[in-house]
Amino acid sequence: MTSRRRFIQIAPLAGAALLAACSRTPEPAAPMAPPPTPAPVAAPAAAPTSEPVAGATAAPATGSTAALPRVDEKDAQAVALGYVDDATRADKAKYKAYVAGSQCSGCALFQGKAGDAAGPCPLYAGKSVSAKGWCSAWNKKA
Ligand code: SF4
Repeated sequence: MTSRRRFIQIAPLAGAALLAACSRTPEPAAPMAPPPTPAPVAAPAAAPTSEPVAGATAAPATGSTAALPRVDEKDAQAVALGYVDDATRADKAKYKAYVAGSQCSGCALFQGKAGDAAGPCPLYAGKSVSAKGWCSAWNKKA
């Protein structure tokens, strides 16, 4: 019964986060081609600035997820899901499904690499979660 309630609470958030994540990826490809063709008339400095931005968008895709800002425990979604940076501080009285020793690094949704101090989580789009963190959406990694 607790699992069903948890699923109902989490499913809309996870769906929205995944849709947001999926809709962002294809955008940079299309705008990159047109800018080099029309040369700016007055600002030569503007052209170099726009090209590095295109390169910079490709760089994070190769792996630097550590640059993402950390989720604040006071963010609305973090509060809603009981996220904490340190799993030992999880509200065990409120979240009865808490499993001792569970943390983000062992969660199926954690997208960081083994040994990373933090990594992305689809439930917190554009942010990273602590590998030692925890929230009520924790689901054991297979
Ligand atoms: Fe994301 Fe899982 Fe950590 Fe929750 S426990 S913040 S779902 S990685």
